[in-house]
Amino acid sequence: MANIFTKIINKEIPAEIVFEDDLVIAINDISPKAPIHVLIIPKKEISTINDFEVEDESLIGHIVLTAKRIAKLKGVAEDGYRLIFNCNEWGGQSVYHVHCHLIAGAKLGWNPA
Ligand code: AMP
Repeated sequence: MANIFTKIINKEIPAEIVFEDDLVIAINDISPKAPIHVLIIPKKEISTINDFEVEDESLIGHIVLTAKRIAKLKGVAEDGYRLIFNCNEWGGQSVYHVHCHLIAGAKLGWNPA
């Protein structure tokens, strides 16, 4: 069965699309943790960071460059933001289709690293 992000990519279920091209779709998170919370999702079905292959290197770069572009579009590039990839259970991953969280719009409090 297709995961929820594949259904969004295939327009089978609605989402607030912030940006889309051949490789990625970016949507507003349905349960935002900050004033700006966008998910950048590759259209290629990859479950977790552990499943990235060398051939995905340019796709990974494209995800980050897309996040950078959205941060600028949203006007938060200079104030700052955070990009997060959760991986597996201990990393807090709940949707097993790899994605990058762009979190911004407030001074972020939790600095584990
Ligand atoms: P993660 O926990 O890192 O796997 O992140 C999954 C994210 O997807 C969570 O922040 C959810 O709020 C978000 N999410 C789940 N379903 C949807 C949906 N239908 N549309 C937008 N965001 C979603």
